[in-house]
Parts: sequence; C-alpha cells; structure tokens
Amino acid sequence: MIEIKSKKECCGCHACFNICPTKAIKMVEDENGFKIPKIDTELCINCELCKKVCPIINNDKIENQPITYAIYNKNDEIRKNSSSGGMFFLIAKYILDLNGVVFGAKFNKDFDVEHGYIEKESDLNQFMGSKYVQSTMGDSYKKVKEFLDNGRYVLFTGTPCQIEGLKKYLQKDYEKLYTQDIICHGVPSPMVWRQYLKYREEKDKDKPIKINFRNKDNGWSDFQTYFKYSDREYKEKHNKDLFMKAFLSNLCLRESCYDCKFKKKNRLSDITIGDLWGIDNIIPRMNDDKGVSVVIINSEKGKKIFEIIKEKCIYEKINLDDVIKYNPNMIKSCLIPQSRNEFLENIKDGDFSVITNKYLPKVSVLIKVKGKIKKVLKKVMKKVLIRNDE
Ligand SMILES: Cc1cc2nc3c(=O)[nH]c(=O)nc-3n(C[C@H](O)[C@H](O)[C@H](O)COP(=O)(O)OP(=O)(O)OC[C@H]3O[C@@H](n4cnc5c(N)ncnc54)[C@H](O)[C@@H]3O)c2cc1C
Repeated sequence: MIEIKSKKECCGCHACFNICPTKAIKMVEDENGFKIPKIDTELCINCELCKKVCPIINNDKIENQPITYAIYNKNDEIRKNSSSGGMFFLIAKYILDLNGVVFGAKFNKDFDVEHGYIEKESDLNQFMGSKYVQSTMGDSYKKVKEFLDNGRYVLFTGTPCQIEGLKKYLQKDYEKLYTQDIICHGVPSPMVWRQYLKYREEKDKDKPIKINFRNKDNGWSDFQTYFKYSDREYKEKHNKDLFMKAFLSNLCLRESCYDCKFKKKNRLSDITIGDLWGIDNIIPRMNDDKGVSVVIINSEKGKKIFEIIKEKCIYEKINLDDVIKYNPNMIKSCLIPQSRNEFLENIKDGDFSVITNKYLPKVSVLIKVKGKIKKVLKKVMKKVLIRNDE
C-alpha cells in the first residue's frame, strides 16, 4: 500500500487512484487544497499496484536527444488566444484530424481547473491558454487507456508529472499515444485560487463569465490576468495581479514542486512546449511580442508531428542550454519561501489582498529602480537595432 510520509512524495497525478482495482484509493484535498490519496484499508488488497505506478517512487532516468526550436503559429488569431506561440493548437489539431482524442486542462463551470477530453476542433479553445492552478486529473488516465484499447489516437497534454504518471499507469507503450508536456514553474493551490475567485467576486460584485491568465492585449511580455463579467472587465498586468504575484513568488505551489523530479532536459513526453523567455538574447529577430514558443522534440513521434505542423509555423533551431539559461524552470525546482506555510494557513480566512501583500517577498527600492532602468535600456536598444536593420 502506498504510504506518503512527506507531502513532497506526492505530485497529485492520480496514477494510484486510477489503477486501484478495488477503489480503495480516494483523492482528497489536504489542508492546503492539494489532492492526495487516502486509502481505505478495509478495501485494500495489498496488490501494490499503487506503488508500481507512482512516478515519484519509479523515477527512471531517460536517455534521448532533444531537438529545440523557437517557433510560432503563422495564424495570428490562434497565437493571440494561446499563451505563447500557439503550438498546442497545432499539435492537437494533428491528432483530431486523425479522428483522435485530445486530453488537456480546462475550467469547469465554477472555474476550478480539471482535466478532460475533446473530440472536435471547435472544442479546442477549452484547453487553450495556461491555467495557473493544479488541474484535477479524476479518472482521465483510465479514459486514455479505454480510447487506446479501442484503437483511437490520443494526445495527452499536461504538466511533466502528469505525463509521467500516465506513462507509469499505462505500463506499456501504445503506438497511437502522443504526449505533450510543458516547461512548468510549479502548480498553485486550488484552495488559494478559490479564495482569489471569492475575493474578485466580492470586489467586482459579479461572477466572471470568462477568465484568461494570459491576455495579450498589451503584448506577450506584458501579459495580463483577465476576468470578463456581463457588463465589465478586470485586466491587470501579471506582475500586479495578486494571484499571479503569489504564484510567481512561489508562495502557493504544491509541496512536491519545490523538489520536482520531472524538471529535466530528458523528458518522457514526445514534445515539450513553453514560452521562449529570453528571446531578445536568443533570437531577437523572431520577437514581435505576439508570443513565441520553445518546442523541444523528445522522440520519433515528436519528430513526426513537428514535420507535419512546421509548414504552418515560423521556426528556427536553437540551443536548449540557451533556453534553460532564461527559463531555468525547465530543469530546476523553485525555492520554497520561508513564509509559504504561514501564507497558506492565513489565506483561508483572511482578506486576500491583505494576506498576500503581507507575505509577498519584499523587493528593495534599489532593485525596483535597477529593474526600471534595465527595462528602459532594453526598449532603447531594441529601437536602435530596428533602425540599424532598416
Ligand atoms: C502551471 C503552469 C506553469 C507553467 N510554467 C511555465 C514556465 O515556468 N516556463 C514556461 O516557459 N512555460 C510555462 N508554462 C507553459 C506556458 O504557460 C504555455 O502553456 C506554453 O508556452 C504553451 O503555450 P501555447 O501557446 O503553445 O499553447 P496554449 O494554448 O497556451 O497551451 C495550452 C496547453 O497547456 C495545458 N495546460 C493549461 N493549463 C494547465 C494546467 N493547469 N495543468 C496542466 N496543463 C495545463 C493545456 O492542457 C494545453 O496542453 C506553464 C504552464 C502552466 C499551466
């Protein structure tokens, strides 16, 4: 029977829940809002399958030769509605055109984030765009297996731990299974997200009808959190929005994210996608501030998809180490702030704004001024470079 001695030992992938033959495992929320397995010892038959499929217990080393591209979708509308360069849409469309099924993370009617599947291109928008909350997997792994056993093509997308959880659950390779993960900062607590939704509802005096964590009206680099209400909008820069500030300063990540076993160069997925942060240092000529993805091809299947979708993209080969330099989340876990546990304890009943501002790391005036000078210099340099190009 799986035994979780420390919260670090569970990434919440649900592989154990999906494999249990007697339904002895339930996924329940811990005090911080993260789902963890709870075992009914009366129902457990000690088959040990839960241990066998745990991607943290069975964290194998992977050998492959990743190939890395800077890339974006030529279709401006899809790119605008995607977090970075609109790569997920193209990968998903490839599978749907084969009469396949696509799994990904979507909002439910209450704006909780959960995994689900779609079979039609017109439903793809549900999965497009990053939702910065840990998604609940439910019985998605079981459904993936059912579709594969029925001979369907399946694309499964998610965080690196969700991909490894699925692969361990399946216990064998399927020719028609394609997987795509993301470069992952870490996943925020669904409890904190619910508290933020409550806070916004009280402040904006309405329930949202649409939420976008990556609104690009001000460009890709200055992306905004966006809430649409029946008669108004809330829009705030990611470095000003309270939830995004708590997320990006690592206050509300899952405990296992601070010691992530799945952030690495060699991945189990066929394709890894992320934002090409550091683009102005890596490949400035591709930056029009509409969003550029980094795509890392990890397998032959990944190569096959890339060969098909590349016609619809602008792309160039780049070096993975350059990507990692500006996007260390590819390989490195975030540091745990000292105040994380206190923040999570207090956010449950306190005012979201007061508590978040209390526990956010303080940035010194000097660092703020330095940051502003750097930004202005960057803008000036960009203008000079464009003029020289002309
Ligand atoms: C929690 C989280 C942290 C991230 N951290 C980083 C980072 O540090 N560096 C970086 O470069 N990129 C990060 N990304 C990835 C990035 O935000 C974009 O998703 C990526 O660049 C792909 O963009 P796109 O334009 O191709 O497609 P999009 O349409 O934006 O991508 C949608 C894809 O993201 C998946 N997805 C959305 N929300 C979730 C979720 N909650 N859990 C699992 N899968 C989800 C969907 O299933 C779909 O596959 C993160 C994404 C998430 C969800």
